Amino acid sequence: MRRPELLAPAGNLEKLRTALLYGADAVYAGVPGLSLRGAPAEMSLEDLASGVSEAHAQGIRVYAAVNTFARNADLKQARLHLPDVAATGVDALIVSDPGLIRLARRTVPQIPLHLSTQANTTNADAVRFWRDLGVSRIILARELPLGEVEEIASALPDVELEIFIHGAMCMAYSGRCYLSAWRNRRSANEGDCTQPCRWEYRLSESTRPEDPIVVEEDERFSYLLSSKDLCLLEHLPEVLATGVAGVKIEGRMKSAYYAAVVTRTYRQALDALCRDKEAYRCDPRWIEELKTVSHRGYTTGFAFAEEKINESSPDVKNIQTHEPAGMVVGYDGIRKQMRMEVRNFLQAGEEMELLLMEETLPVSAQPMTDDRGSPIDRAHAGNLIRVPLPFPAPTGALLRKKTVGAKTEETKRKPSENG
Ligand code: SF4
Repeated sequence: MRRPELLAPAGNLEKLRTALLYGADAVYAGVPGLSLRGAPAEMSLEDLASGVSEAHAQGIRVYAAVNTFARNADLKQARLHLPDVAATGVDALIVSDPGLIRLARRTVPQIPLHLSTQANTTNADAVRFWRDLGVSRIILARELPLGEVEEIASALPDVELEIFIHGAMCMAYSGRCYLSAWRNRRSANEGDCTQPCRWEYRLSESTRPEDPIVVEEDERFSYLLSSKDLCLLEHLPEVLATGVAGVKIEGRMKSAYYAAVVTRTYRQALDALCRDKEAYRCDPRWIEELKTVSHRGYTTGFAFAEEKINESSPDVKNIQTHEPAGMVVGYDGIRKQMRMEVRNFLQAGEEMELLLMEETLPVSAQPMTDDRGSPIDRAHAGNLIRVPLPFPAPTGALLRKKTVGAKTEETKRKPSENG
């Protein structure tokens, strides 16, 4: 069984370090002005160079997304910037625009090219087409069933293939969508989607806007355009059987906590599967772990043709059981105190969980002091605090706490099931 590369999102340098800490084999990051995500998910070239050097020191690869659909002016900017991106030491560029591919081949021919899922590659001849143009890895369309992924992999064993296994899905073909440009003048095709597919919509007749026609999925309203999130954790044996070279977690815009939990979970599952295929079982604790991060309910998407596709979410708001509490920034071995940066309002005495690679440990914020050692009873996002910990925790490790009144898929579904 081929052991695929696990790719995690790195929206910024902190998230890149998080992905390294929690088991990614490779990370992908956006480049200013040239990626298909907005500024919050892009790294400065200086940060990218630092991230590359830290990742390479651990044997982890870094790919730079330059997957915008370029206009003429973008190509001019790319001509200037691509050599600088290459100089950061990234291991490949993720591209989708044929003009950018041609430009990259001429200006930075030494850098391998990976074709973005935004290019919507769905068949073996399309893979041959891109391979013949010098692309070394194809990130296939999310809309392909695993059976077709396997067919392509068998037909083209010389080409690296990659698929998404976890994260948000579009209701349009891999992000080729004008909803956001239309409603908010911010285009998904330029990496600036505001996700209006998650909004609440009603159907009304033009002369009677005060009398909307009810198209109701549950007691609140309909979710005609809002997809659940992809999750193939329970189907990793089938995923690996396709022969893909890489499996990717979506979410450069998501939090470091999200990157930590999802990367760690898939790392544990992939390692268990590759260690002993026959004995492998999907651990229910891994599923529970994925429910702790913000999501819209999980689906296998298009992975199995016979399954329902385009499932809309029964809950347009994100659901989660936990939220980030903080990040470890140091350890005082003399006082046996962990120094942490707070990420959400925290009260002295609150129970937290420290996420280590192999285990999750309880940590109490009792007593809680500021970073100079003065007792405090509450802390806010950005505060540096200290709490007792008998052993050192790695810098960059994440802490979480239970979300008060947490929504889960089960609790959100109950009213409509009963009603
Ligand atoms: S609006 Fe929704 S479907 Fe369209 S690109 Fe954004 S996330 Fe995808």
